[in-house]
Amino acid sequence: MRIGASVLDFATVTDASHIQIDGSGRNRIDADSQGVVGETDLSPSASEQVGGDHPGNESSSGKEGGGGNGGGPVDGNSGNRGSSVNGDSGNRSAVEANQRGWVDAGVIAELREMIGDDGMVLRATELKVYECDGWTIEKSSPEILLRPRTTAEVSAILKLLHRRGIPFVPRGAGTGLSGGCLPLGAPVMICTSRMNHILEVDYTSRRIAVESGVVNLHVTNAVKGRGMMYAPDPSSQVACTIGGNVAENSGGPHTLKYGVTTNHVLGVEMVLPDGEIVELGSPTEECCGYDLVGAIVGSEGTTGIVTRATLKLTRAPEAYRTLLAIFADIENATRAVSAIIAAGIIPGAIEMMDQMIIRAVEAAFHAGLPEDAGAVLIIELDGIAAGLDEHARAVTELVREAGANEVRLARDDAERLILWKARKRAFGAVGRLAPNYATQDGVVPRTRLPDILRAIIEISHRHQLRIGNVFHAGDGNIHPIVLYDERDADETRRAVEAGRDILKACVEMGGSLTGEHGIGVEKMAEMPLIFSPEDLAVMSELRRVFDPDQRANPNKIIPLPGACVEVAAPRRQVAL
Ligand SMILES: Cc1cc2nc3c(=O)[nH]c(=O)nc-3n(C[C@H](O)[C@H](O)[C@H](O)COP(=O)(O)OP(=O)(O)OC[C@H]3O[C@@H](n4cnc5c(N)ncnc54)[C@H](O)[C@@H]3O)c2cc1C
Repeated sequence: MRIGASVLDFATVTDASHIQIDGSGRNRIDADSQGVVGETDLSPSASEQVGGDHPGNESSSGKEGGGGNGGGPVDGNSGNRGSSVNGDSGNRSAVEANQRGWVDAGVIAELREMIGDDGMVLRATELKVYECDGWTIEKSSPEILLRPRTTAEVSAILKLLHRRGIPFVPRGAGTGLSGGCLPLGAPVMICTSRMNHILEVDYTSRRIAVESGVVNLHVTNAVKGRGMMYAPDPSSQVACTIGGNVAENSGGPHTLKYGVTTNHVLGVEMVLPDGEIVELGSPTEECCGYDLVGAIVGSEGTTGIVTRATLKLTRAPEAYRTLLAIFADIENATRAVSAIIAAGIIPGAIEMMDQMIIRAVEAAFHAGLPEDAGAVLIIELDGIAAGLDEHARAVTELVREAGANEVRLARDDAERLILWKARKRAFGAVGRLAPNYATQDGVVPRTRLPDILRAIIEISHRHQLRIGNVFHAGDGNIHPIVLYDERDADETRRAVEAGRDILKACVEMGGSLTGEHGIGVEKMAEMPLIFSPEDLAVMSELRRVFDPDQRANPNKIIPLPGACVEVAAPRRQVAL
């Protein structure tokens, strides 16, 4: 059971023919009033520092998305994306919501009472910083940014917004890559950057309770002295928050072996859109009933604001063997990935970079990668020391058989960390190649990696765009990076089209629309490629269990039938 203590009143928000969940045995928990120690503002400046290492830690200077240009609300929204797929609209439509003026003087005065002046950003110039995440094609400023310190403050804010029928968008560090925290019909942005405290560590039970604004890497940093780690390690881990990870069900290089966020969350405390505080899940691993934590993880901020999470801790591997396999071409590299898994060896990570990315990384960070290689694989074996050398030898043989020209073994921790630094800073390095880039995220069955990479080359030629590849090859989770210049309207349009064509190809090959970056606004139009209208209606119903008015992060994930998204200007993508 994942419902530990919940006050959700399911019966009131579902109709008898739809989802019905017995809410018996629920306990209300009191609004939290944790003291606040220090204030680390992760967004937006910290969100531009991505990279880091697993498990070695180092801040980096990789530049990622994150606003600063463009500005103003998404205008021209003439459609009805604010409604559910079954046409049952929330309090107000997105059209109304995109008009300014929701946050009037009365609302501001009440908010000031709740969180003080230092918890609010109102100035248009400062709000511009929050107009997008790493999906920079679409931009829209909130009317106000709020930075609560406690669950109680989040609850008070959401109660006020509920009374006034005002939609809102949660934000962590703003490193998302699918426009998840874009304020689209949500004038109030609520950022968890000041809810950044580790609350409790229980080494005996191997769990840790954290506030949702805690940076991913800080969880591992807090426990590594005791030989533990928090396994999901997005490449953005020096900046992204646990709340964002929960919302996106984030993965990372090492999730090949350890699983994604949902496999590591025991429970969450969240504030529902009406301000009610609920606890879902249980501190124990096994429970019964519907898996509501499973429903929250990956819900992209559309069910409320996660304020705390109880996470599993994993024993850090005793030893690592990290290999760099160098290939003349990318096809052989992808075949090597399948060969390793087919041999029954599950490395901690298998990451791939193609030539464009290798060269960008080398130019930026001089990590010693071979610039003439067609592709490289970083293969990391981890676990107890005994047997690792044997596995490393077996992998070396397999990749050589698959066509690797050379296989290097990191001789020590320093060399290993250089390789990971190169990989995790790759996105940042791409900033050198073009004024803008869009990072795609699709999935194919691992055996189809050669096919999808061929398709990406064809798509890049067809749209006359440069596309690089750096991705979690072991998972079949591709990240084509489409380079463009937002000052060129036609090139921007082609970049969006190329991304869509790549996703279509993934689906045609039996894959999926996202491995870890979520749907956000970026991929809403593609949802019907894998879901029927009935599927989407069921998802909408589930969402309404938590958010009957659909005021939490509106206009995300679930498209309306017939809705489409068009690029209307070089720097602005307008939802229609
Ligand atoms: C360079 C780079 C590398 C990346 N590498 C990876 C990777 O390896 N694996 C991976 O999975 N992702 C990766 N990402 C994507 C991104 O970092 C993740 O999606 C991350 O989880 C977002 O966290 P955030 O705190 O920045 O969330 P934000 O971007 O602020 O928000 C993301 C979504 O979560 C919602 N949200 C945020 N906080 C809360 C909350 N407390 N309650 C409810 N909803 C909330 C927002 O509304 C939004 O929908 C990468 C991004 C960059 C820029």
